[in-house]
Amino acid sequence: MGLATCSGAFAEPLLRRTFTHEAMGTEFNLTLYSRPEDKGTDEIRGIADEAFAVVDDLENKISVWRLDSQVAYINKHAAREPAKAAPDVIDLILYCRKVYSETDGAFDVTVGPLVNLWGFYRSQDESSPQGQLPSDEALADTCAKVGMDKVAVDRDKGAVSFARDGMLLDFGGIGKGLALDRAAEVLKRHGVTTAALSAGTSSIVVLGTPPAAAGWRVRVRDPYDDRASLDEVILRDEALSTSGSYEKFFELGGKKYCHIFDPRTGRPVEGMLSVTVIGRSGMETDALSTAFFVMGAEKTRAYCKTHPGLRVTLVPAGEKGGLHPVPVGDWDQAGKEPPPLENSRHPDSTPARGDDAQPFPLPVTVRVNPISQCPCPGRPEESARP
Ligand code: ADP
Ligand code: MG
Repeated sequence: MGLATCSGAFAEPLLRRTFTHEAMGTEFNLTLYSRPEDKGTDEIRGIADEAFAVVDDLENKISVWRLDSQVAYINKHAAREPAKAAPDVIDLILYCRKVYSETDGAFDVTVGPLVNLWGFYRSQDESSPQGQLPSDEALADTCAKVGMDKVAVDRDKGAVSFARDGMLLDFGGIGKGLALDRAAEVLKRHGVTTAALSAGTSSIVVLGTPPAAAGWRVRVRDPYDDRASLDEVILRDEALSTSGSYEKFFELGGKKYCHIFDPRTGRPVEGMLSVTVIGRSGMETDALSTAFFVMGAEKTRAYCKTHPGLRVTLVPAGEKGGLHPVPVGDWDQAGKEPPPLENSRHPDSTPARGDDAQPFPLPVTVRVNPISQCPCPGRPEESARP
């Protein structure tokens, strides 16, 4: 079976199929286009199942929630002896170490003890985390157990060691993006060239473009209101991730504490509402949206100067509660017209511009949702989901 590509004119209408799958504590969504003769066959469903199976496989390896995962094993043993792990887990740790050093430690998958200390692990079955403010002593003690520089990786032996007791790897900042890349590889292997795969509301990877469209339109959400959609971005063979302070947080004494930490201070990041990154892979954009959330606009701008091909929008918390998005990176490559701002519900929203005076790309940041598209009139649609 050859799934249709979107290059050139279509001699026949295409069908849009959607599939969903629960994994990594969220819902994965797959949208793909196929030819009518594929409709009703088990083949497309089989491809979707195979794509979701690699997501499950990754989750089984890297979840901190699964007691039998490889990461749970590493977390339990690596301080005492080199803990064995599969080559892809070793490669993931090495990739995380690379991002750690390139972001001056802003992205650090050894944040596990901090996530724990501030009470975010306990919230698994609850709508909001049971947060707590740690004492200075506990914070200092925990910070001593954080730092990718205290993780040794022996690639040849496939083993990981921690320098300190109590260290914990946590791939919450990168796992979903990597899962999307792996699932997209399965689709490509089966000849799928037109698909969008998203993990919850924070990451999406797209292949090709929907029929007769310029690309996949992805909704951009207002960080203050998940129902408000202020803009869209157009994606083609790209990934997009967003990190938001609204995703997981707790409130104490009128102050909000979010789930993204500055690993150097051990404290939840303050002053950022959301960061959206468009780049080449889900693994890259997922890691970098978390990293840039910690780094803020100036350090992100410096990063993007030495790492071309990224489009980033940071939305710092405005003093008056307004939205002042800061575009950084290669927006001029995106071929996107500056969007109108009239639909902003924030009267004091003003278009921010990067140093490079690029066109203002986005009013605000993102709630990932491929917008249903059936751009050719009369084209039939089908959904595997009721
Ligand atoms: P989402 O889960 O909404 O996609 P992110 O990708 O931004 O959010 O990841 C946030 C998660 O990453 C946190 O819940 C935590 O597990 C982990 N984390 C928090 N701070 C950092 C950091 N500085 N570096 C790496 N991972 C982090
Ligand atoms: Mg992330």
